Amino acid sequence: MATVFVIGAGPAGLFAAQKIAQAGHEVVIFNRDIKPGGLAEYGIYPVKDKMKIGLRKQFAKVLSLPNVHYFGHVPVGGGSPVTLEALRQFRPAAMVFSVGAQGTKKLGMPGEDAAGVYSAKDYVYHYNLLPPFATQDFSIGKRVAIIGMGNVMVDIARWLIVDCAHAKPEEIIVIARRGPFEAKFDDKEFAHIHEHLDRKAFAQELERVKDRVAAVGQDVTKVADETFPALKKFPDQPLVSPRLTFRFLSTPTAIHPGPDGRIAKLTVADNYLTSKDGKIGCKTSGTSEDLDVDTLIFAIGDKHDPLVGLPCGQWGYVTNPDGTRPCAPYEVFDPETGKLWEGVYVVGWARNASEGLVGIARHDGEVGAGHVIDYLAGKQAPASAPASEIAQFLQRNHIRFVLKTDLPYLYAAEDNEMKTRGLSWFKFSDDDEMLSVIEKAKANSPELVGSPRD
Ligand SMILES: Cc1cc2nc3c(=O)[nH]c(=O)nc-3n(C[C@H](O)[C@H](O)[C@H](O)COP(=O)(O)OP(=O)(O)OC[C@H]3O[C@@H](n4cnc5c(N)ncnc54)[C@H](O)[C@@H]3O)c2cc1C
Repeated sequence: MATVFVIGAGPAGLFAAQKIAQAGHEVVIFNRDIKPGGLAEYGIYPVKDKMKIGLRKQFAKVLSLPNVHYFGHVPVGGGSPVTLEALRQFRPAAMVFSVGAQGTKKLGMPGEDAAGVYSAKDYVYHYNLLPPFATQDFSIGKRVAIIGMGNVMVDIARWLIVDCAHAKPEEIIVIARRGPFEAKFDDKEFAHIHEHLDRKAFAQELERVKDRVAAVGQDVTKVADETFPALKKFPDQPLVSPRLTFRFLSTPTAIHPGPDGRIAKLTVADNYLTSKDGKIGCKTSGTSEDLDVDTLIFAIGDKHDPLVGLPCGQWGYVTNPDGTRPCAPYEVFDPETGKLWEGVYVVGWARNASEGLVGIARHDGEVGAGHVIDYLAGKQAPASAPASEIAQFLQRNHIRFVLKTDLPYLYAAEDNEMKTRGLSWFKFSDDDEMLSVIEKAKANSPELVGSPRD
């Protein structure tokens, strides 16, 4: 039996932990957030209750395994006393990094730091009430540009249009580098906002780009059949405010702040479409236009967090380049020494940033876990430090961590607030508040085990 550290308790990390624990090993999980779940808790759209409740139950089952230990509110790297080196001193037999994609992708254009410019991840964390984003200012103006054309764009547009009590946008402009046939969202998700699609403006936009789209063999009259079925399903849909518009073949190139420091204009370069080996790309045509916007949200996917401490390359954490072994894409590799970091693995969105839904992350975590189990087979495992020694280290470093036995107190307190306030869900949005709620509840009822979410 060996001890494996899992860093990050999103779907990839938790399902990896389950598989490793079920193979008989001890698993110690370190998670930045107090609660487990990652984006399943703090990314998936707030009203998708059924999915969230189902996942929480599965996560609770993983944590209930006697050989799984949990240290929540413990970030690894990024200035935390819990560095990779500190973890190594506890002598784990293997480490699995499942920290997701916490780095922010930028386009490198002037003005990106202006007020009113946000990354989708941060904004999604904000409205899903993840500390500290939950209490940060994400003010929304009247004309909101969302860059990108995937499901995350749809979630954000839906939040701004349908569910956010504070935002009162008049127009949401979706800006995409490529054309209408490269839209990547699901119809089911778009159905939540299709009434707001300004069909007249959309027809004009198709007219504006039709020749450039035709140049790569696409026909704008087929858009309703292929990527915007709502147009066909509800052809006479009257426009419901706020309006949703699309601007295709446009790459943002500069953000211009106004005198108050907030974004006031966005320059977009006009693109041509290109086609190579069946793949549609784009290149700028040399002309550009300024759009009046007071809020901009980048929904272009995220990237690895370089501060975790793993070797990084252009595309993320570096993995074993030896393409002949199935475990290679999961094994961490140091390009400077040309050697593997033996026993160190990456899984999930940490391995493939912003790639796929929970099912894909789960699968990736389990495949990675399989490689870890193979690696441990027949190895003389080192005598790892017990969880109590790790707890002492965290205490010495003044880290207020949460154990798996603390979580039911928090969940019970949230359920209580939900009922008292007559809401369909309630989350505490501040770490200190969560920690003191747990402490108080433990003092009042030291026996609590399990919760309605188990
Ligand atoms: C806006 C949005 C909506 C989505 N909606 C859906 C949906 O409806 N249905 C669906 O199936 N999928 C959805 N997904 C995709 C799904 O959330 C992901 O596939 C999945 O969460 C990825 O899992 P992961 O474990 O790799 O990463 P994450 O879920 O990001 O988990 C990473 C974990 O690592 C922890 N962590 C990060 N850094 C550190 C650190 N330095 N030290 C310690 N711990 C750390 C975090 O606290 C977190 O718990 C959505 C994604 C987004 C962004």
